[in-house]
Amino acid sequence: MKKGISVISVGIFLAGLIVGAMIAQNGSRLVQDAEAAGGIVKSPTSAAPERYVYYPGTEALAPDEMRVIACGTGMPAARHKQAAACFLVELGNGDKFFFDLGTGAMANVAALMIPYDFLDKVFISHLHTDHWGDLASLWAGGWTAGRTSALKVWGPSGPTEDFGTKFAVEHFLLAYNWDYRSRQATLANEPGRIEVTEFDYRGNNQVIYNQNGVTIRSWPAIHIADGAVSFALEWKGLRFVFGGDTGPNKWFIEHAKGADLVIHESFFLPTQFVELYGRDLKATLNVTTVLHTSPQAFGKIMSVVRPRHAVAHHVFNDEETRYEVYDAIRETYDGPLSLATDMMVWNVTKDEIKVRMAEATESAYSVPGPKPVPFPEADVDPLMYYSKETLDGRWDVSDVEKKMKEEFKKKYGLD
Ligand SMILES: [Zn+2]
Ligand SMILES: [Zn+2]
Repeated sequence: MKKGISVISVGIFLAGLIVGAMIAQNGSRLVQDAEAAGGIVKSPTSAAPERYVYYPGTEALAPDEMRVIACGTGMPAARHKQAAACFLVELGNGDKFFFDLGTGAMANVAALMIPYDFLDKVFISHLHTDHWGDLASLWAGGWTAGRTSALKVWGPSGPTEDFGTKFAVEHFLLAYNWDYRSRQATLANEPGRIEVTEFDYRGNNQVIYNQNGVTIRSWPAIHIADGAVSFALEWKGLRFVFGGDTGPNKWFIEHAKGADLVIHESFFLPTQFVELYGRDLKATLNVTTVLHTSPQAFGKIMSVVRPRHAVAHHVFNDEETRYEVYDAIRETYDGPLSLATDMMVWNVTKDEIKVRMAEATESAYSVPGPKPVPFPEADVDPLMYYSKETLDGRWDVSDVEKKMKEEFKKKYGLD
């Protein structure tokens, strides 16, 4: 009996040591996660009361809650596991905003099964493809899948007109002219438009958006060329800050200070970049510490900014990379931290910041929203972009389709 008690007390003592060490090493993060995983399943027929993963589409947002989902956290080169930079911010007032829309991100966005009509606002930090390369997918995919109004894009000007967002989007539509014009023949035209708001990249904490209680500001970033920016979104006393690509800069320190969720790039260590990318040594130091922000510098930034929660992105987050990056950040920052990977989710309220992973389906369809999809333009001839020569090439299959077409018409009451 006596022996049993002493074993239990040693056990409790050891558990206390382990928890203490976890808190000391990792702030409150591990303990918070452990609490999120708690909750008793009360009967064989009841649901788990507290979920430690996020199942998209199953949780209503509270009126004062912000949910941020990492839909891309990687690099310009594509991979299954991580798309390029994209963070979706969802607010309890119903507004949703993209901050960057890097290549590959839309597959993650689609897995959230949010109606495209709610996904019409995109803020671009700079015009590298790993930050806006999936605009094509949101634009055309959203148009065919039920967006009812024009897509809205906000982005910085550049040192010259041709480096700006307006030029980029206008020429994007020209490059996709065949796509754009041909779809106009079969879809309502308005949702195919893109409205661009270009703002001065030099603006220092300037307001670039102010609607429905949401204020978004921008300030310059330092990244390869003029025309890159960072953003802050404020709503109901919560502040979200997003840095795209940038070397450490004084504006970020000043304007991100004390924000709730602060996202900033933390690039590969120079040794990792040489070993994983085989880049020459001189270029490596320039890329990892001048054009981008090293993990040590990220840590220094966050130790001055002191956010409620810091988020690092823009590395391939793998077993062989993440611990070195984490340890390097911990040389200079000891506060709450996530090393982002795709489908990581942060629920932010005044009381709590909860971090989980989303468990999303691989087989998502687009989900209709409450507004009916507008009809195609009445006066458009769907054959207008065919020549007689092409039309004459059609091969008659009416004999095999006759029955199927009749059944279709009968089922839906068509003439
Ligand atoms: Zn980038
Ligand atoms: Zn970049």
